[in-house]
Amino acid sequence: MFIRKSFLFIGLFIALGLIFALHTYNSPPHPAREGKPLKVVASFTILKDFCEKITKGLPHIKIWAIVPPEADPHSYQPTPLDSKILSKADVIFINGLNFEKNVEKMIQSSGFGGKVYKVTGGVKTRPDLSDPHTWHDVQNAILYVKNIRDAFIKEDPDHRSIYQENGGDLIQILEQLDLWVKKTVQKVPLEKRVVVTTHDAFWYFGKAYDIQFLSPVGITTEAEASAKDVATLIDFIRDHNIKAIFVENLASPRLIEQIARETGRSLKGTLYADSLSASGGPAPHYASMIKHNVQTICKALIE
Ligand code: ZN
Repeated sequence: MFIRKSFLFIGLFIALGLIFALHTYNSPPHPAREGKPLKVVASFTILKDFCEKITKGLPHIKIWAIVPPEADPHSYQPTPLDSKILSKADVIFINGLNFEKNVEKMIQSSGFGGKVYKVTGGVKTRPDLSDPHTWHDVQNAILYVKNIRDAFIKEDPDHRSIYQENGGDLIQILEQLDLWVKKTVQKVPLEKRVVVTTHDAFWYFGKAYDIQFLSPVGITTEAEASAKDVATLIDFIRDHNIKAIFVENLASPRLIEQIARETGRSLKGTLYADSLSASGGPAPHYASMIKHNVQTICKALIE
């Protein structure tokens, strides 16, 4: 009996040894981050979406968005929890270009000791104004993805091949999306492509896809429209028989509702400008946001 038990133990020992040896053999050569989470903060939802897709399948990556879905990154006030999470993070991704100003302030005040990656590196910016809404041109979003992919490779080189593969898949999806937007917009005659929306968030979108955007407020939702600007816009809508008037998911609809009322127009839906929707909404991802905006705009323009 004693001998049999010993054999059982020796057998178990050999089996465990074999499992351990096989595991070691299969592990990457420099397991620097093995078992250690990489804590990632994204300033707003669109960057979080790109981070999630690039790191898909890697359980050691933890991603937190400071500005939540449906909240306004221009004016968002970070909470004590945001500051606590940021202080323990390894990296933060920001848009920059004066977009998420309070988040940038928090980077200084939270005691964050990690690396700041600005995703707009290499993007050609609007010449006349400091306009941060560069992501609405899908080609710019592709640059964001390349910058985020390269940052992950730099921070976590052991998983380079996964970042390259996921990044490549996402770039391919965005290239197809860009073509789809061009094809869809081209079905609308050029002279009909004039849109009125709450704030000046769609300059890059308009430039990339040949649509003219007008808005009573400037590039930040915090700006106030002057009575003169509003009157000029109302005259323009009447003179040019513009019917495509939209509200946005964040900016206050009050002014645009007033303009629609005074010009006898009806509002044609909600565009997603600066934040994604929550998961049950029409724009929970970057690609679904672009599709939703294009479909909503084009439907109103050909009516
Ligand atoms: Zn904005």
